[in-house]
Amino acid sequence: MAHTNNRGVERVLTGIPATDGAGVRMTRVIATPDLDHFDPFLLLDEFRSDDPNDYIAGFPDHPHRGFETVTYMLAGYMQHADNKGNAGLLGPGSVQWMTAGRGIVHSEMPQQENGLMWGFQLWVNLPAVDKMCEPRYQDIPASDVPAVEIGAGATVKIIAGELEGTKGPVEGVTTEPLYVDVHIDADGEVTLPTPVSHNAFVYVYEGSVSIIADQSRTISRGEIALLGAGDQLTVAAVEKPRFILVAGRPLHEPIARYGPFVMNTEDEIKQAILDRQAGNF
Ligand code: MN
Repeated sequence: MAHTNNRGVERVLTGIPATDGAGVRMTRVIATPDLDHFDPFLLLDEFRSDDPNDYIAGFPDHPHRGFETVTYMLAGYMQHADNKGNAGLLGPGSVQWMTAGRGIVHSEMPQQENGLMWGFQLWVNLPAVDKMCEPRYQDIPASDVPAVEIGAGATVKIIAGELEGTKGPVEGVTTEPLYVDVHIDADGEVTLPTPVSHNAFVYVYEGSVSIIADQSRTISRGEIALLGAGDQLTVAAVEKPRFILVAGRPLHEPIARYGPFVMNTEDEIKQAILDRQAGNF
């Protein structure tokens, strides 16, 4: 039997209330004073509210350059449209993996006047060599996200990466991400392989889960666990957990960030601002 090594918990943080777009209230989990980034991940937001005042203003036209934005919806509907002529409707279980590259201007607006709006936005960095690539969208309907039963009582939706021979629909991403949504029944336990070269985190959005390692630790709703080295994650249900497990190859490159622009140097940030002002996105 091959030697395997469970990833333990290195750090646990709690998201903080934040407002973005035209006044959308959310929880910011990565890109906070205590966690600027977790290479290659630059930001993680959870938006969850059934009060339209928290989300109805949406995210009108805004630019991005130098990284990828990933939206994964659990509930509700958002319409996106960009200045390249792309448009699409995000619904429950759907994913949009948007590679901003050298620049896009887009909007993400709620398509409902009431009801629950729930999901995540993750920012994934691009290596210097790809920061000015052509923009690209991968719009993935819920029906294209495979769900596999693994271990005892676990259902895993695979958005990106591969588990037990099943591949997620997202393709061609430089940091070779694994992005899975895990539901575990009461008393369930599951082991999920994670590429040894990758940084990995767990963000629990319902219930609580025990991360089993030399020193096991329980992670609860609203907490992110930054995982240590290893080649797999073993988790056991504490209270009907639902969480995302995200892993990516770290870039180890300098980060210069200013709002919706993430580059390697301050000069590149200045150029992004000039290009945006000149209408060159
Ligand atoms: Mn955006």
